[in-house]
Amino acid sequence: MNETARSGIRERLGLRPIINVSGTMTALGASIVVPEAVAMTAAILPEFVEINDLHRLASRTIAKLTGAEAGFITASCSAGVTLAIAACMTGPDLARIEQLPNPSGMRHRVPIMLGHMVGYGAPVEQAIRLAGGTVVPFGQATDVRPYQLEAALGEDAACALYVVSHHCVGYGQLPLEDFAAICHRRHVPVVVDAASEYDLKGFLEAGADLVCYSAHKFLGGPTAGIVAGRKDLVRATFLQNMGIGRGMKVGKESILGTIAALEAWERRDHAAVRRTEQEALDLWRERFAAIEGVTATLEPDPTHNPLDRLKLAIDPARARITAWELADRLAAGAPPVIVRDHEVEHGYFFLDPCNLHPGEARVVAERIEAELAEAKSRAGSNHPPASARRERRFARLMAWPD
Ligand SMILES: *Cc1c(COP(=O)(O)O)cnc(C)c1O
Repeated sequence: MNETARSGIRERLGLRPIINVSGTMTALGASIVVPEAVAMTAAILPEFVEINDLHRLASRTIAKLTGAEAGFITASCSAGVTLAIAACMTGPDLARIEQLPNPSGMRHRVPIMLGHMVGYGAPVEQAIRLAGGTVVPFGQATDVRPYQLEAALGEDAACALYVVSHHCVGYGQLPLEDFAAICHRRHVPVVVDAASEYDLKGFLEAGADLVCYSAHKFLGGPTAGIVAGRKDLVRATFLQNMGIGRGMKVGKESILGTIAALEAWERRDHAAVRRTEQEALDLWRERFAAIEGVTATLEPDPTHNPLDRLKLAIDPARARITAWELADRLAAGAPPVIVRDHEVEHGYFFLDPCNLHPGEARVVAERIEAELAEAKSRAGSNHPPASARRERRFARLMAWPD
């Protein structure tokens, strides 16, 4: 929840005033940027500043919050992964930095577990190829052994990539500690993509050499990415600004906005935020308890962020609507409510309480109750399959800008 005053900007621009119970999604504008970051962004925009000094300031702030030796801010976490991998390939050699994405003469192989080769709107392994790296998938999707990592590293890996995400296969993977120990025995650095993870210290403590976070997800910062870790590698990441990093550069407003978001994170009353989220979850659970065909259960975050979501399972025989039809109707109505629906074909979706403005939890409850009441009054039980919804959404994407 956030106390930021509402400006009415969406209504003025003719954009739908959506309520986000989906999570921190790029496609929905990521997160509510905290007031401290909004103020700092506005303050720096009209001013000149020596950018590398601003980057020095950011490095100190990142170091303070993560325990890393240094840190660097780039356009996004995805850009951070690409530049971190480039850094492991080139080191501080500017001739090599200018040569990328042609990797000839450099170590360029980057092992990644098959169960980590996920998409977050783009394929995660494309971040490797963008730097000129060669993706080396290893293991089976649901079962990975240390010898498979050793074979994938070979004699000349540039680094190895480890992804922390609810998208990843949730079992059978190598723990980061083991993964890093094997890589380090061969002097290969480990890059961790922890875009959405609240834990700013644990991955470095577990052996990561560089960790990449999104500034615009849990932190509530402007659109940016954070790379934290070993000073020599962070420096080599920074130097990519003279090469492929130029097209992924971050402006003064996002550097300072991210610093402000990090400092606000350090000061934030996290227990109070959690209590507010719990109030929304309690409200929803209470309101949906008696509705026929709906089962509401609390689910902890799959990657152990301190956050629960409400899982709503819909029995179409009793509710007279499928989970995916309900998700569509919620998104189409007024105000539009966007639920967390990536597993909706199984007959359930989630309500995420992290990105609510005051009063919105109640509106979400009312909208869901109203749609379910209306479904019960409708005749017929001819439900379109979930696949039809996927096709329709894909067609809409491909028709952009129409
Ligand atoms: C969101 C996400 C990204 C992309 O983050 P951006 O900062 O939007 O580029 C990368 N990796 C994972 C695992 C993510 O969840």
